[in-house]
Amino acid sequence: MRLSRYFLPILRETPKEAEIISHRLMLRAGMIRQEAAGIYAFLPLGHRVLQKVCNVVREEQNRSGAIEMIMPTVQSADLWRESGRYDDYGKEMLRIKDRHDRDMLYGPTNEEMITEIFRAYVRSYKDLPLNLYHIQWKFRDEVRPRFGVMRSREFLMKDAYTFDIDKEASRHAYNKMFVAYLRTFARLGLKAIPMRAESGPIGGDMSHEFIILASTGESEVFCHKDYLDFEVPDANVDFDDVAGLQKIVDKWTSLYAATSEKHDAGEFAKIAADRQVSARGIEVGHIFYFGTKYSEPMKAVVTAADGTEKPVHMGSYGIGPSRLVAATIEASHDDAGIKWPEAIAPFDVVILNLKQGDGATGEASEKLYRELTAKGCDVLYDDRDERPGSKFATADLIGIPHQILVGPKGLAEGKIELKRRSDGTRELVTPEEAVARLAQ
Ligand code: ATP
Ligand code: MG
Repeated sequence: MRLSRYFLPILRETPKEAEIISHRLMLRAGMIRQEAAGIYAFLPLGHRVLQKVCNVVREEQNRSGAIEMIMPTVQSADLWRESGRYDDYGKEMLRIKDRHDRDMLYGPTNEEMITEIFRAYVRSYKDLPLNLYHIQWKFRDEVRPRFGVMRSREFLMKDAYTFDIDKEASRHAYNKMFVAYLRTFARLGLKAIPMRAESGPIGGDMSHEFIILASTGESEVFCHKDYLDFEVPDANVDFDDVAGLQKIVDKWTSLYAATSEKHDAGEFAKIAADRQVSARGIEVGHIFYFGTKYSEPMKAVVTAADGTEKPVHMGSYGIGPSRLVAATIEASHDDAGIKWPEAIAPFDVVILNLKQGDGATGEASEKLYRELTAKGCDVLYDDRDERPGSKFATADLIGIPHQILVGPKGLAEGKIELKRRSDGTRELVTPEEAVARLAQ
């Protein structure tokens, strides 16, 4: 992509309305635009990152055996009357009437709809287990939308729903999602800690919020410091290995970790003082087993092996990709701007032509642009008629992991400069070397 032809509305001034760093940087880097309170457009650069986050989420969901589909954003109120939640949900739900005066709503979540789909087709235990997910916009009329896309009213959610014959089978489904979440957040460069969370009326131990530590987080959290060094399962983890997965989950739940709602000060005090973490955190995911809460009232039943009919056991599993974009910035930035982890960077490389209009730097930049693109790199080429200082500032602000600085002085000796955004290290190399390295 040539920057001269791209749409990257960088802001020079720091927007006053933004209270936290990720919100400020997303506005300044031209990633998002507020269209109404808590409602944002993702501009091209923001959209690229959001798509990359979704792709990581999708790959790990698929790896664990979940199946992608897509459900609509607008739902019929009648579905929610069946579960009893239409009246319970309160003001967070955006209620709409269509032209025939029918009650509709903009979905805040999809338990009812997925249960309706399930009961329409699935009859037998032989069709289980099943895990269906989608990545779709949600609307919740939050009391206090704030911090940009961190807590917005319209936001993107990956929500998965599992169906199993009984609680024991559900535990394996839960463990699969637990491990898939560990892998997902690790790939995004985040240290997310699964913390005991409110499990609602059924109780039990199958509800965890995945929290990343950040001073601007809205949750108050308490955990054992060792979690920060725990190893995340690699890509070869066998999701069909019931005992193996349980072992991983047992390890990741062996130490103390809880949000303020589930906090037990006495238990926390037993941790050695230098291993206690009492901090603020951002909830990036939530997994939850709720048994037959929806299948019973909505009559989603299957025939069990013994011939009897049983309401199916369910769980739901959410991740907020739009919140994750902001959360990643909270975890990875400096005074100059964003530092994207490679997995979700909007571009892999940015080429800075430091003397626009100069034959030699132009030719060398064009060649690098062509060759890197041909090798499958996502390349941004800063070919604007701007001074080097402005190009440096833009590249640092938008946080592309690798910068190639093409200046007349270096070129005279056949060299360009490679700069890594994460630690600022620079190296002089030949253009051929740069291509070979970055194309890896
Ligand atoms: P919170 O406590 O932050 O309001 P929640 O418990 O309501 O979250 P869930 O219903 O479990 O959230 O939704 C699943 C995921 O969707 C959350 O873990 C979060 O990543 C994301 N999410 C929820 N609400 C918002 C929001 N208002 N803006 C952005 N992302 C959100
Ligand atoms: Mg909420």
